[in-house]
Amino acid sequence: MKKIFFTVGPSQVYPTLEKHVRQALIDQVPSLSHRGNEFRRMYQRAENAVKELLSIPDGYVVFFLGSSIEAMERIIQNTVERTSFHFVDGAFSQKAASIAEDLKKEVLRTPAPEKEPFFIEKVTIPKRAETIFITENDTSTGLIFPHEYIYTLHDLYPEKLIAVDLVSSAPYSSLDFSKIDMAFFSGQKGFGLPAGMSIVVVSPRAVEKAKNLKSKKGDVGSYHSFHSLLTQRETWQTPETPNVLAIHLFDKVLEDMNEKGILSIRSDIDKKAKRLYEFFDNHPDFEPNITDTSFRSPSTLVIKTKKDARIIRESNLRKGIVIGEGYGTQRDTQIRVANFPSHTMRHVEKLLESLGKS
Ligand SMILES: *Cc1c(COP(=O)(O)O)cnc(C)c1O
Repeated sequence: MKKIFFTVGPSQVYPTLEKHVRQALIDQVPSLSHRGNEFRRMYQRAENAVKELLSIPDGYVVFFLGSSIEAMERIIQNTVERTSFHFVDGAFSQKAASIAEDLKKEVLRTPAPEKEPFFIEKVTIPKRAETIFITENDTSTGLIFPHEYIYTLHDLYPEKLIAVDLVSSAPYSSLDFSKIDMAFFSGQKGFGLPAGMSIVVVSPRAVEKAKNLKSKKGDVGSYHSFHSLLTQRETWQTPETPNVLAIHLFDKVLEDMNEKGILSIRSDIDKKAKRLYEFFDNHPDFEPNITDTSFRSPSTLVIKTKKDARIIRESNLRKGIVIGEGYGTQRDTQIRVANFPSHTMRHVEKLLESLGKS
């Protein structure tokens, strides 16, 4: 039986992925040299396509890394000399903070907003903090960090860099990249691709900062330092042999998404999120983890269950519907449901019909 994956990543693959994988093998993409012209055109095309899809300004650069956890480490190494500042709202924002600690940075942290009213201008960020880390959509809790707050931080702290984890909100997120300096996301979440590649977007200001750190002989890492990535990118290459097939598939899915149109992709997600939350809000056995509706994630729903969450997952699995486990210690008390571009309203109706009976 073919399953429908509502897990939060890896998840349901993009509907055209199968066709692109088959064609890639016919076209011998896995044998292409990463030093050849075909690869260079592929890198350039993928960068342009992601910039088009997410309205990323000219001058920003795109790097491909192995994972988004790696992206956190590279961003800290290359843009934080001493002190980073973190809004911590769940396991993923906590991860960036603990990586900064491992790298011997001074780590300042504050809880992320989760209820209205909240006054972002009252959060004080010390002068010495260089980069502010924000997780836009914390996949462990289902909490979002509203864009208006990010824009206020940009206005209040123009000298600091802002790095945003968009891993489980891209491409739904309509974040204005001109107001941030770095963003990253992984293929296996909202893009419906195989796992194992992260896409990192870096502003000219962040590039400057990385160059400064490098010239001060700071430890910015080795082959995946921004310096090394930038040098190779000048000729549309990468420091190592990258996952050429993943970059190819990313490029192909971006082409499909651009053709469909980002507005239509986002409005489909809004419609499905509305349907899902209406169901969970009104069902006696379920309750969304985030109560304040203005902080609820449309793309990864975290739901508390009255019944044993394991049993709910197992009974749905027998019907071919794969529901995500609660994160960490919430395994038996919560479920998670992804609402990505790969999921159709028909998938959602099937899920709800099945959940209604479990
Ligand atoms: C999944 C996830 C990550 C980690 O991504 P990897 O590709 O596993 O490194 C980071 N942040 C968030 C919000 C995530 O959901």
